[in-house]
Amino acid sequence: MPYAQMKLARVPYRVRSASGCVLELEDGTRLIDGLSSWWAVVHGYDHPEILRAAHEQVDRLPHVMLGGLSHEPAQRLAEKLAAITPGDLRHTFFADSGSVAVEVALKIATQYHRNLGHPQRHKMVALRLGYHGDTTGAMAVSDPEDSMHHLFAPILMRHHFAPSPRGGFDAEPEVVQKDLEALERLIREHESELAGMICEPILQAAGGFNMYSPSYLRGARRLCDAYGLLLIFDEIATGLGRTGRMFAADHAGVVPDVMTLGKALTAGYTGHAAVVTRPGVFDAFYSDNPEHALMHGPTFMGNPTACAVALAGLEVFEREGYLDRIAQIEEQLQERLLPLTGPAIASTRVLGATGVVEVFDPEAIKGLQAYAAARGVWLRPFGTYAYTMPPYVITDEQLSMVLDVFEGWFG
Ligand SMILES: *Cc1c(COP(=O)(O)O)cnc(C)c1O
Repeated sequence: MPYAQMKLARVPYRVRSASGCVLELEDGTRLIDGLSSWWAVVHGYDHPEILRAAHEQVDRLPHVMLGGLSHEPAQRLAEKLAAITPGDLRHTFFADSGSVAVEVALKIATQYHRNLGHPQRHKMVALRLGYHGDTTGAMAVSDPEDSMHHLFAPILMRHHFAPSPRGGFDAEPEVVQKDLEALERLIREHESELAGMICEPILQAAGGFNMYSPSYLRGARRLCDAYGLLLIFDEIATGLGRTGRMFAADHAGVVPDVMTLGKALTAGYTGHAAVVTRPGVFDAFYSDNPEHALMHGPTFMGNPTACAVALAGLEVFEREGYLDRIAQIEEQLQERLLPLTGPAIASTRVLGATGVVEVFDPEAIKGLQAYAAARGVWLRPFGTYAYTMPPYVITDEQLSMVLDVFEGWFG
């Protein structure tokens, strides 16, 4: 089991089936999924259109390698991503999971500078409280103390960490200014060896649900331009609506050089991820020199079924007007989570379809999972965070039941 001490962990609930956003356990218990299965299953578990797209693609061509071959679903998804991602983000490289997409993004930043004749520029600036995945490259840019990072420190590349941006989404300009000054000092100090900066824009998710100001991202963009760093937005958690905009980058009007997408992209119907870059990045690889080619190629990259599922999901997203629905979810979360107070609560915060109650002491949310399950809701609090990131198809009544759990526990 993931992140679990098997000797101490409780026996997991066994899920037999699911429909909409309700999980049905083998003993007949029904649980509303308050987490979208790690923030992925935004369409619910049995969306007919996505299931149909998956079935049709499996029947026609479930998989084919992308080395030397291509196919329509990959081509169409790459075009779709070019169309919906901000600015001139245009060239897509597929990967089989979010962590691998991050590895690819880091390799792109390194090789970009190498191809341009600056091989010494191979380190990254990352943010404290960041989380970018569980593979070694991704771990090395995740928070150096709070993540799993410290367990594996001896085998991880050493990068440079800027303070986590403070002050929340509506931070005072002076607070943002101070954080940007710290970022600039770090970049200036290590400029000659830096390839890029990686961050989760607006919402640092698994590392602590820290929400921060769009103006920080505008400042980071200016600094990356001034010092020649590629700016990588890891939108694996935030992309496709989770923060209330299609991409978290849209809050700031900033176009990164590289963007990673995953999780909601295939929405749990299969796994897949994508790395999208701007022409300026692509062009640094495009040459007569074979050594300038991007040296990566996961076995299952561009899997046709995954691409068909992603295309169907994006179509549903647009047609059903999910961004409007997310705005309603946000309102409901704000109404009922933000007023929660009590000696145990350090802070409450809401952005898009993300609601968080942070406590001072992990003991304060011990037992919350069983409490929620007894009330028909699936939550998985961790550390000092009780949170919900519901599927976008959750009904008002279902979300209300999720929020009853928070009110009942903290009220
Ligand atoms: C989940 C996540 C990843 C890792 O994705 P996997 O598919 O689990 O490998 C990377 N970055 C962010 C921001 C994530 O939330």
